[in-house]
Amino acid sequence: MRKALFFKAGACLFLTCFIHSNVASVKAAETAEITENSLAGISVVMNQYYQEKLSESGISIANVATPIIVEGVKLTAVNGTANQNLAVANVDDYANIREEADADAEAVGKLYSKAVATVVEKGEEWTKISSGSVTGYIKNEYLLFGEDAQEVIDSTYERYAVATCTTLNIRSAATTESKIIAQVPVGEELDIVSILDEWVQISYEGTTDAYVSKNYVDVEYSYQYAVSKEEEARIEEQKKQAAIAEANSYNINNMVWPLPSDHNIYSYYGKRVAPTAGASTFHKGLDIGGKSGSSIVTVLSGTVTVASYSSSRGYYVEVSHGNGVVTRYQHCSKLLVSVGQKVSQGDTIALVGSTGISTSAHLHFSLLINGENVDPYPYLKAVH
Ligand SMILES: [Zn+2]
Repeated sequence: MRKALFFKAGACLFLTCFIHSNVASVKAAETAEITENSLAGISVVMNQYYQEKLSESGISIANVATPIIVEGVKLTAVNGTANQNLAVANVDDYANIREEADADAEAVGKLYSKAVATVVEKGEEWTKISSGSVTGYIKNEYLLFGEDAQEVIDSTYERYAVATCTTLNIRSAATTESKIIAQVPVGEELDIVSILDEWVQISYEGTTDAYVSKNYVDVEYSYQYAVSKEEEARIEEQKKQAAIAEANSYNINNMVWPLPSDHNIYSYYGKRVAPTAGASTFHKGLDIGGKSGSSIVTVLSGTVTVASYSSSRGYYVEVSHGNGVVTRYQHCSKLLVSVGQKVSQGDTIALVGSTGISTSAHLHFSLLINGENVDPYPYLKAVH
């Protein structure tokens, strides 16, 4: 239902930040005037505090009258009104989060387009933000604040209610007198239509005449937060693995035999006794027999990345097939392609020879995935 990349966080979490960054000081300064029962009074205290003490912090005080309800010292923004402490990335791709308020400072993470951050401190040029596991600085020009941020948040993210009791009653109206239309288990996520004083109106199995008690749900948001450098590396690695899996799933399995005129395999991949001085004892490919001068074809379509000579490989060609898959053809008598050339599966790219460290004319065929040699035989078995 929700995008997997989006990290969830409870409303309570951001409210904690809200409390820590602003209200804790309110509490210290104004404790004498705060009581649980003086809701209006609290609102006034907040207004005064914002106006008198926080204007220099850069937080807009235009909407300080944002309704708040007080449960002890816990403040809750209601009905999705703009939270002054949130900012969103206003960039096409991502904004770097820096260790210091300095464009040359080390990047500790990225705030991708529309991702949400809590404003810790807004300065003239840079804002200190906290998002996900990352705390650091972003240039103000890459962020939206206040109402602008809220607009993006409202149009980008879903709000949902998560059941916090073992069995949550869903009722047909916002009263305990109404009919129970369903019961859902703890942890169930319900799409929110609107948040009322005591109840949350939800959308449930096609109806919006559905209500749950606010006391038994947490309101959560599908916010996307910043990605730390470490998380980014992990995501990159996952992408790489996915690319390999993809390559394995169709590309590699469609290889043709590299030496149409000869299907004899003289030496398989793996440990062996070196056939001649200088040859390796771990054979990183297949030796396929062939008459000198017979055609070697590329097993898959791709781009020629190497067409060269080495003292061990002789004349050899490497073809890159994308997704980290590369094939190599060694000991050739002649190369028929050049670097950068696009080749289609089955195209002749070189002729069999015995150049480099070789005892007789043959093709040494290697398969590499992300730079690592792998046994090509399982992929060629079907066409052997
Ligand atoms: Zn070989």
